[in-house]
Amino acid sequence: MKGIFPLEKLERLQTPFYYYDAELLRQTLRAINQEAGKHEGFCVHYAIKANANPKVLKIIREAGLGADCVSGGEIEASIKAGFPNNKIVYAGVGKSDWEINLGLDNDIFCFNVESIPELEVINELAAAKGKVARVAFRLNPNVGAHTHANITTGLAENKFGIDMRDMQTVIEKALQMQNVKVVGLHFHIGSQILDMGDFEALCNRVNELQNELERHRIRVEHINVGGGLGIDYQHPNRVPIPDFKDFFDTYAKKLKLRDGQTLHFELGRAVVAQCGTLITRTLYIKEGRAKNFCIVDAGFTDLIRPALYQAYHKIENLSSDEAAETYDVVGPICESTDVFAKQIDLNKAHRGDLLAIRSAGAYGEIMASQYNCRRLPAGYISEEL
Ligand SMILES: *Cc1c(COP(=O)(O)O)cnc(C)c1O
Repeated sequence: MKGIFPLEKLERLQTPFYYYDAELLRQTLRAINQEAGKHEGFCVHYAIKANANPKVLKIIREAGLGADCVSGGEIEASIKAGFPNNKIVYAGVGKSDWEINLGLDNDIFCFNVESIPELEVINELAAAKGKVARVAFRLNPNVGAHTHANITTGLAENKFGIDMRDMQTVIEKALQMQNVKVVGLHFHIGSQILDMGDFEALCNRVNELQNELERHRIRVEHINVGGGLGIDYQHPNRVPIPDFKDFFDTYAKKLKLRDGQTLHFELGRAVVAQCGTLITRTLYIKEGRAKNFCIVDAGFTDLIRPALYQAYHKIENLSSDEAAETYDVVGPICESTDVFAKQIDLNKAHRGDLLAIRSAGAYGEIMASQYNCRRLPAGYISEEL
């Protein structure tokens, strides 16, 4: 073992690969269930897009969470993993006909509708099957999140959702349709949010919108506030489990649910990020004039977050205890953005050393590509090794 890693076992596997700590994932899920369970009517879904590895999905499904999907493929993955159809929600600005039909055929819990043209298509497709689709409107609450610009979703300028000023119009339109039933309102303001003030701002907005609906004598059954809770990328060992208490308590305190309403969450990153690590092998140490490069066999095809969002991931050398030296850790791909970290300290690295790129369980394996005709990384869970 080195830290939390079973080094002898990892040494035998072909790198690069993802390693998932099943015990940490289970502890995280217990914390979610414990904290959400303190509040009446709270239902937690897992956002499949963060990580759809079947072994990871199985553990999450066993903990009783629902599934939040953003494509037909994710609906298929959820069903295959055993999530009950009545716990599957489906959002997305561009749902294709086959994807809507898939949702209808499986009687999913709810379509989170993002535009009027989409509502019309869902109504038509449901009519063709003689069904009534349950819909929630994804409203754009124009609430900014203090996170990276590429991962805010709740501002008026973002493509997501329906302008909240049109809420009344769309609901009235839907009430006249035969094959849709309005069951809720949906929101999602962004990702990697650590400032509870951002979630409070969303709660305030939801309260305003509910008051407005009440003036028109409309009450929905469900409020869905999406996901977005961030994790501590700097300190994966010290803070392996996000502060779910603070998160759920904020909603319990600030969001005024009406009698009988349920409050739904769609957490992705906060569930899976810390349990996943990208394990890569050092190929070469290239000693440059200005700096030293640690060239590894993983690239942005395996983990794109640093290249795409300038994201920080803590990196550790699992094979060395020698005094630290400073490196740029880079991959083999023919792009200058294929860099995992610049000017970081690692225990002195040698060819063959295993490095752990931490907090990579969310938006890691699932975003892998085959650019440069590379192989996709494997994903192993601790208990299968
Ligand atoms: C991405 C997404 C989520 C999950 O976001 P996290 O930041 O990973 O918690 C939840 N809901 C919707 C609609 C999403 O698009």
